[in-house]
Amino acid sequence: MTSFRLPSKWITRLVRPQIEGFEPYLPGRSMECVRRERGLRRIIKLASNENPLGPSIRGLAAVSRAHKSFYLYPDGDSASLRKAIAKKWSVAPERVIVGAGSDELIELLGKTFLAPNDSIVVSDHAFTRYRMAGELMGADVVTVPMRHYSHNLSAMGHAVRPNTKMVFVANPNNPTGTYNTQFELEHLLQHVAALEAKQKRRILVVADEAYYEYAKALQRDYPDTMKLQKRFPNLVILRTFSKIYALAGLRAGYAFADPLVIEALDRVRPPFNMNTAAQVAAEASLSDAGQVTRGINLIKAERRKMLPALARMGLPVVPSVANFILIDVSPRQGRQVFEALLDRGVIVRSVDEYGFRNHIRVTYGLPDQNQTFLKALREVLAA
Ligand code: PMP
Repeated sequence: MTSFRLPSKWITRLVRPQIEGFEPYLPGRSMECVRRERGLRRIIKLASNENPLGPSIRGLAAVSRAHKSFYLYPDGDSASLRKAIAKKWSVAPERVIVGAGSDELIELLGKTFLAPNDSIVVSDHAFTRYRMAGELMGADVVTVPMRHYSHNLSAMGHAVRPNTKMVFVANPNNPTGTYNTQFELEHLLQHVAALEAKQKRRILVVADEAYYEYAKALQRDYPDTMKLQKRFPNLVILRTFSKIYALAGLRAGYAFADPLVIEALDRVRPPFNMNTAAQVAAEASLSDAGQVTRGINLIKAERRKMLPALARMGLPVVPSVANFILIDVSPRQGRQVFEALLDRGVIVRSVDEYGFRNHIRVTYGLPDQNQTFLKALREVLAA
């Protein structure tokens, strides 16, 4: 074996150029990590927009029934789950794909459709996984400023370039919790459809509806994307089992799209992208209507207490239709408030990487957890 010295920057030459400056996604801090770091016993996590009521009992029962088959590979097509989703939403199974969280589906959209010299359109404080999917593939990311913490859909429509393949709309958006109305989304779709007709090509509009169930219950003018998809075949709808269905730890998401889009995504996805436990838990949870109702009722009840309490503390809150809120703590730094809350055993999310340096994002927890959070926040603000 010949011995040789590698230059100290060898890794830079080994990774793809797109990976050189690539920053990883920063998840909410885990309870175990905070327990270890701070030596605290009682910790509450209000950091990742999970549903603290936990998953459907039907879903858990399905996992325990399925455990005997865990030594076998999962059904690579997740056929039974796809069928169940299709049936619930009255669409053909060919219009459905499932994945390890909607996260995987976002990345899959990037891997399937984007190459260097393509572009995507996002808004500046949008969920970061779209930007990451674009950057991973070397595509340009066209970023459009928000208006009053909301996506400016008409500006996003006008930002579409001849090389744009996808426009991403998180609705509601994370971390702002704001939403775009049926009218606004329809307007964007019409604008993009006119561009498609002129340019004789498809431009996908991806509506990420991770918090769909909450938004639909809270706002009458929240878009009916399933209906819109019948008129606009370029509309891709992303949903997840991580939020109201409380299966974040199992990783289960799904999408509705034109069968040709689904077929292309299916060619690229890993062959066993969704594990057996996730498939059976998700399918059984779908039939548990109580799961959704309980989740919505919790948020409705907790909003009624939390929003006035925060107003009394003089803290502006961005109007949210999801299960979390973005709180303006200025003139304080969001990161400092985040750290001070951690010292008190409350994990929230600092949102510096989203360009919000004076905000924290807080997920609605159980009633006593929310009261603990408010008490800790009062102490932090008084310190
Ligand atoms: N989209 C949005 C807007 C989100 O907030 C999240 C979760 N943070 C996701 C997608 C990804 O969720 P999952 O991969 O768990 O389905």
